[in-house]
Amino acid sequence: MVDLHSHSTASDGSYSPSALVGLALERGLSALALTDHDSVAGIPEAESAATGTPLRLIRGVEVEIAFGPGEFHLLGLRLERLGGELEYALGRLFRARDVRNGRILDRMRDAGFAATMDELRAVAGEGTAGRPHIAALLVERKAVRTRQEAFDKYLAKGRPFYEAKDCLELADAMRIVKGAGGLAVVAHPLSLFVSWGRLGSLMDEWKALGIDGIEAFHPTAKIGHCRRVEKMARERGFRVTAGSDFHGAIRPDRKLGRTAGNLAIGDEYLAEIGL
Ligand code: AMP
Ligand code: FE
Ligand code: FE
Ligand code: ZN
Repeated sequence: MVDLHSHSTASDGSYSPSALVGLALERGLSALALTDHDSVAGIPEAESAATGTPLRLIRGVEVEIAFGPGEFHLLGLRLERLGGELEYALGRLFRARDVRNGRILDRMRDAGFAATMDELRAVAGEGTAGRPHIAALLVERKAVRTRQEAFDKYLAKGRPFYEAKDCLELADAMRIVKGAGGLAVVAHPLSLFVSWGRLGSLMDEWKALGIDGIEAFHPTAKIGHCRRVEKMARERGFRVTAGSDFHGAIRPDRKLGRTAGNLAIGDEYLAEIGL
């Protein structure tokens, strides 16, 4: 079993990078990609925790791409170099998040749920801070009972506290990932919220641009829909990946090494990314 999509405390996961590696070993995984939002800061810790164990740690990252109506996330998998332009771009996104988080906190204050940047930082720790951490603040303020309710009521796209994030353009993000020696893979494409026809033409564009793969299997999608995405991706010659998008306690429905339909992610997915 393997997993090509996971998060640690370096972004909005609840496990530290080393605890995540520990859990992956406990579950008998042979490979795990750590793909934190806008950050590769957890990778050194995860790599040292995996050293001398049967677990192969795959260096990854997940970034958001400017898009509407839904959300567009791009995975960089099998990164070879973490410095250079990748480090620079992620640093910029990190600082842009501060500005955006400040705007969300302004909206919250106007609605009577005041919280400071320091309080947000305390929830997020050193990692990239974002809406999941703000959702936790809204639970603390008793504005909602659960983080999911915080998203549904206030934080999701189109809801009153939503603020757009500074995003990369797809071509730039792809160039940065490939420049770091990685593969550019479109994450959970059904979160784009486009029709099947539109998804097909987008895939054609991505192929022409040089995108390497599609994460066809993701736990938020129905297995039948995942197979349909897989078929579309294969017809166009993409690599096909699968992940759990594990976040730990904040999304308890997600299980390491398992994807849509609770399907175990087999070792054959390593070959998909050339390992
Ligand atoms: P941000 O990067 O700050 O915009 O936060 C995005 C993260 O919030 C995603 O990676 C998910 O972990 C979480 N998220 C986004 N939309 C939802 C939603 N509708 N319900 C629950 N969690 C969500
Ligand atoms: Fe997340
Ligand atoms: Fe994502
Ligand atoms: Zn993710």
